[in-house]
Amino acid sequence: KFYSGPSIQKTDAIKSINIPPAVYDLYKKPLILHQGHMQWLFDHEGRRYLDLFGGIVTVSVGHCHPKVSSALHEQIDTLWHVTNIYRHPKLYEYVEKLVSKFPGDLKVVYLVNSGTEANDLAIILAKAYTGNNDVISLQSGYHGCSSGLMGLTSTQAFRQPMITPAGFHNALLPDPYRGIWGGCRDSLSQVPGACSCPGDCESSDKYVHQLSELLGNSVPVDRVAALFVESIQGVNGAVQYPKGYLKKASALIKKYGGVLVADEVQTGFGRTGDSFWGFQNQGITPDIVTLAKGIGNGFPLAAVITTKEIANAHTRASYFNTFGGNPLAAAAAKAVLEVIEEENLQENNKVIGKYFIEQLMQLQKVYPIIGDVRGKGLMLAIELVVPGTKTPLCQEQFANVFETIKDLGILIGRGGRWNNVLRIKPPMCITRQDVDFSISVLEEALKRHKN
Ligand code: PMP
Repeated sequence: KFYSGPSIQKTDAIKSINIPPAVYDLYKKPLILHQGHMQWLFDHEGRRYLDLFGGIVTVSVGHCHPKVSSALHEQIDTLWHVTNIYRHPKLYEYVEKLVSKFPGDLKVVYLVNSGTEANDLAIILAKAYTGNNDVISLQSGYHGCSSGLMGLTSTQAFRQPMITPAGFHNALLPDPYRGIWGGCRDSLSQVPGACSCPGDCESSDKYVHQLSELLGNSVPVDRVAALFVESIQGVNGAVQYPKGYLKKASALIKKYGGVLVADEVQTGFGRTGDSFWGFQNQGITPDIVTLAKGIGNGFPLAAVITTKEIANAHTRASYFNTFGGNPLAAAAAKAVLEVIEEENLQENNKVIGKYFIEQLMQLQKVYPIIGDVRGKGLMLAIELVVPGTKTPLCQEQFANVFETIKDLGILIGRGGRWNNVLRIKPPMCITRQDVDFSISVLEEALKRHKN
């Protein structure tokens, strides 16, 4: 389709007056994207890009996937909206299918509209169930940005100079690359030779000990409501924890009467390859799971899944949601689950993800500017540093690499505590050929900005 929208100059004029300064352009030379097909995006000048960021892990099965599009079209001509005080078939069909993907007693589903809303609701459920108030998350985690969640989303990563609301605490981030106790990654990680510890990684005990001190000092032990974790940190750049950490941290929180909340907003729907949910790679069973982003392939929807016991603690009068699980969202989300199964996308994530990380590691051998390569499935990252050190690459040099990657036809993500991490989380339909193209583009960009 030819582009017929406003020019760059016109959008500049509107942006300078009508769009909040907090909404930033990712690129120095901003992009107008107006069309997408599977792993491809097209700009206003008709240039095609391979999308390695998927609208931040949101376009799970491919832009305008034909099956999801036709499910939406059919629903749009049938019924758009009834609030869920009435029943509509799509919501029931969807919920039944979604819970079939969960282990154990995780059978009750709340449908909401965004990851932020899902995590807000998870806090309410955790507090209602435990009767406790305090909530713990890991440093540099990201869980949303409502006024309450700014405490849960660790402020170091969020970079918002605002006082953390009372009752929120950040535990030390168990980061094998940058953390004070080092450590090796989960043995299930595809990083070859990543873990040399025979059992759980030794450093996991040290980090869990710090968590227990936090529980003892800052959070009186009888007041902890929940520990929130991403099984792999997303915004912080695919940070994986030392092997065994999540299992032990989970046991500790439960021992002290809190619940474990797994934020699967980025790691869900088979993205990590080995399992459908990221937490399953860690051998833990959360009490509450939150989903968003890829759940609707870009159509707004999110969910909280919990047990009947926890949901029973939440009274009827305290819950209402106008748009949550509306017919359009439920139709799209049901089609997403079907596509993941029909196209075997979890397996694709595993196979292509393994190939991708191996290629990235080869690149690292030649380009010491790549300090770390990590991740699992199609949730990958490379961290750029001053060669031979762990000093984050300066922002200007990083921005040059980042802009060149775009100019060469690839949209990639950016993140990490120091904004020096390239994040790779494409639609789950990418192929080996796409990986080869990505590696050649990354190599060219690194070559051009070596110094
Ligand atoms: N949790 C995680 C892990 C996320 O990455 C995000 C968004 N980046 C959220 C929650 C919040 O989701 P939303 O933007 O839909 O509110």
